[in-house]
Amino acid sequence: MLKVKNITFGYSKTKVLNAIDFNVKAGENLAIIGESGSGKSTLLKLIYGEYDLDKGQIFWKDEEILGPKYNLVVGYEFMKSVSQEFDLMPVTTVAENIGKFLSNFYPEEKQRRTKELIEVVELEAFANTKVRMLSGGQKQRVAIARALAKQPEILLLDEPFSHIDNFQKQGLRRNVFNYLKANSIACIVATHDRNDVLGFADEIIVLDESKIIAKDTPQNLYKNPQLPLIASFFAEFNVIDPYGIVYEHQIKIVKDSNFKAIVRRAYFKGNSWLIEVDYKSESLFIEHGVELEKGLEIQFSISL
Ligand code: ADP
Ligand code: MG
Repeated sequence: MLKVKNITFGYSKTKVLNAIDFNVKAGENLAIIGESGSGKSTLLKLIYGEYDLDKGQIFWKDEEILGPKYNLVVGYEFMKSVSQEFDLMPVTTVAENIGKFLSNFYPEEKQRRTKELIEVVELEAFANTKVRMLSGGQKQRVAIARALAKQPEILLLDEPFSHIDNFQKQGLRRNVFNYLKANSIACIVATHDRNDVLGFADEIIVLDESKIIAKDTPQNLYKNPQLPLIASFFAEFNVIDPYGIVYEHQIKIVKDSNFKAIVRRAYFKGNSWLIEVDYKSESLFIEHGVELEKGLEIQFSISL
């Protein structure tokens, strides 16, 4: 179990993280979300031991994670990290980059593991391609496979799929997160992309103004977001008195209601349309099955 005990840290006098406290169990998937600059990457770096804490302690099982002041070589066998800057070996192949961290003592096992990891990140077609020939997204996938090669007990992922295009993202997420679960590898994923979280995270931590402002399961946070910042992570939403936060799909256009509004614009969303309406001179967003024309008067009801 990872124990982050009441840690405080700043690069200068300003606190970037203040009294952060949480645990991660073996095999658990924890998502850290928050706006850009809220300290997600910093938190992962502290867990990895890249900086010295101002206050608090971090433990993996009984071992304390120490910063550079107390630990000359950053990094531990049981923990791997895939950050936004991945340093791969450019002139060697994908397979060699991944295999480098596997023992040469059992060549067949090394070959089997390398193949398995290449499949997890869907790079079969590039196994023998030199890394410098790859796109940013492909490099990111090599970095993930390489981090998994040594069977860490905990993996830190910073915006892990940010360079990967939408054609492949969802399948890759399922592969990687299913692999981690199947092998009981705990992971902490820092992200601002809800698709990295929904369907995969056991728990979410929300960072804002250097603090944890919420910690709960994706389902509970989604159902009861409490704050606009949290709701905005999940979907388009409105704040309507006296209901509070109302997601776009919680408003229905109906025939007869006391709520009346005028259509401002319709945005195509694929499976549905996002209808922007003028309600008491403010914009409201409603999910609707078909396009509606600008100027149309509609009536709506709210069901939470
Ligand atoms: P996030 O990953 O959530 O976008 P970061 O952890 O990268 O946030 O940054 C948190 C804050 O710390 C920001 O205000 C950022 O400017 C600052 N920061 C990040 N890295 C450094 C650094 N190496 N030196 C000084 N300030 C930094
Ligand atoms: Mg970051």
